[in-house]
Formats: sequence, C-alpha cells, structure tokens
Amino acid sequence: MTYRDGASEQCGPSSEINVLWVTAGLGCDGDTIAITAATQPSLEEIIQGAIPGIPKVNFLNPFLSYENGEDFMEFFHRAAAGNLEPFILVIEGSIPNENNKADGYWAAFGTDRETGQPITTCEWIDRLAPRAWAVVAAGTCATYGGIHAMEGNPTGCMGLADYLGWGWKSTAGIPIVCVPGCPVLPDNFMETLLYLLYQSAGRAPMIPLDDALRPTWLFSQTVHEGCDRGGYYEQAEFAEEYGSRTCIVKLGCWGPVVQCNVGKRGWINGMGGCPNVGGICIGCTMPGFPDKFMPFMNQPPGSLLSSNAVMTYGRAIHALRRFTQASLNKEPAWRRRSGLPSNASHVAATKSPASTNTDGSELAEFEKSL
Ligand code: SF4
Ligand code: SF4
Repeated sequence: MTYRDGASEQCGPSSEINVLWVTAGLGCDGDTIAITAATQPSLEEIIQGAIPGIPKVNFLNPFLSYENGEDFMEFFHRAAAGNLEPFILVIEGSIPNENNKADGYWAAFGTDRETGQPITTCEWIDRLAPRAWAVVAAGTCATYGGIHAMEGNPTGCMGLADYLGWGWKSTAGIPIVCVPGCPVLPDNFMETLLYLLYQSAGRAPMIPLDDALRPTWLFSQTVHEGCDRGGYYEQAEFAEEYGSRTCIVKLGCWGPVVQCNVGKRGWINGMGGCPNVGGICIGCTMPGFPDKFMPFMNQPPGSLLSSNAVMTYGRAIHALRRFTQASLNKEPAWRRRSGLPSNASHVAATKSPASTNTDGSELAEFEKSL
C-alpha cells in the first residue's frame, strides 16, 4: 500500500536521498558508534540498498564515511548552498550557546574556506536546517541537552528543539524527530531513519511523534512494562544489592515511570538492556535527564510508596503461588500403579501443605480470586 500525506506529497517521493550527520555538538560520539551495532535494520542494509522500497541513501558521517577532510566537508558546503537536496540532517551532541562569552567557540565542524576559521556547529545548523527534508536529533544530548546541559554548565547548551524551536518544521513539514537515549538505542535510531526513508519515498504517512517529539511507537511504554524483572516487582522481591536477579527498584531503578523500550527490544540484536542485565534505569530517554533523576543510586522517591504498597499483597501472593506450584509439580494421583510410590513424590512435597491431599486447584482458585 502506498501512503501519501500532504507534506510528503509537496516535495514528491525521492529515489535518492543524502543523510548528513553532524557529530560536532557537545557529546561523546557514542550515538554514531551505537548505530554500528544496529540489526533492525543494520546500517549496512540501508547503505547497500538491501531493503526494498527505500531511496538510494548516501550516508555522510565523519566517522563512517570513506571521504575525509575537505572531500568530506564538500558535501556539507554543497548542501548549505542548496546543491545537495533532498537531505536528512542528523545532529548528534547538544547545541552550545555561542553568545554567552566574549571570544572563542564551544563547538565547530570544518573550517571556512576563505578565512580558515572554524565554522561553529550552530552556524552549520543555521545553514542546513532550513534546507533539510527532515531533521533528526540522535541521542539525548541532541534531543534535550543531556549530561552537558546539567544545571550550572558553562556552555549554556541545549537540545535541538530548544535551539530551533519546538514548533519548527522541515521543508517537508516534518517536526524535529527526537530519538533520545544515552547513547541512542541502535535499533531505535535505525528504525526511525528507515521510517523517514519510507516517508521520503511516499510509502509512509507523517511520522507519529509524541509531545517530546519522540516516535510514538518506540516511546509510549515504560521500561517497567517491558522489563524482565517485572514479575519480581509484582511479588515484592526487591534486591538489596547488585548481583540479584530480582527487581532493582530499591537500588535506584526509575523504570516504572521512564518511557523506553530497551527492556523489550534489548540492546544489540535483542540481547541486553539496562534492567534486564542488572543496571538500574536512570531515565536517559527523558527530557528531564539527568538533573531530575539524581542522585542516580538512590531509590526514586515515588517508588517508595508503590513498592511498599506492593509488599502488602505481593508477598502473600508469592507464598500462595509457591503452594500451587508445588502441587502442579506433581502428576495427578491416577497416573500411579497401585502399591508404588509416586514418581514425583520427592518434588517439593515437604514444602507444600497441599502435597498430601490437595491437587492445587483449590489454591489456584483462591489465588485467582484475590
Ligand atoms: S528492575 Fe526497574 S524496570 Fe524492572 S521491574 Fe524493577 S523497577 Fe521495574
Ligand atoms: S532503561 Fe533507562 S537508562 Fe537504560 S536506555 Fe532506557 S531510559 Fe536509558
């Protein structure tokens, strides 16, 4: 099926598109490195045209392109002059305030061919954003400011939406697309890029974004809703120290209120993901990160109430389930030859009050009624 929304139709479907990636915000280049681990889709699949229905992609990132030096910068100069359209502009790193000091600059990318002076990252954004088919902020620094934008930082830095304006739209009428994460979850970024490529080809409707400009299908659920440890939370089994397989909310996990799909998606090829592998969620996909989540290793204040409330019934439920489980680990009585002991008589028989004369159904019914 072919979708066309008004904005995409305005520019017409593209058979070839450039991705211009500026890594020169304030950041660690971790988002560029992260996407090399993507598998759904991989960067190679996009660049080599292995996915049907998307335009040919010319991918220009200072770490990953073959070109370097002035040969590489030539693409950006051409784009700024209007000679390389259409293009998707990707910004990585937070955007400094270049007007808060007497001299010098905070961040730059290449040099001016006439003066030899650095071209600031802000100047590149000012030149390229007005010509971009779409603008994507990759990672939490570019989306909302991230670590660099903590209170008291000297650079006055900010996320792209604070720099360009939250209502800003590209030449195709697309708002800034924010894919947060510190670093960005590889497949979240690549899937968003893939969506935009389909949209540029006229094969997808306008990308759906939430109030924080995040793709809705990626950021509408909480970490907690997809966490491997959710069952332990429900049964009030909380870890007191690292190394436990139980819920780590008391160690500082913010998963119950943080919008991120890493629990379900994993980090690389379905594997890993912060709480799944024992790391507390510190809220890196949220606009309030990091200030509103600090100090990181303390139990989130709101979770004190909810985890205490869970304890009142979670432990009782857990105990009842163990009774039921012990009974379910035994075969029904009619599967025995008379005169011989049950083959499962050793299984948890001593732990279960139901082991002598109950088949577990009463307890299961009782548990369901709670
Ligand atoms: S570890 Fe965090 S996200 Fe997982 S169940 Fe516990 S509180 Fe929820
Ligand atoms: S689980 Fe939390 S810390 Fe980990 S990537 Fe998601 S938001 Fe960031």
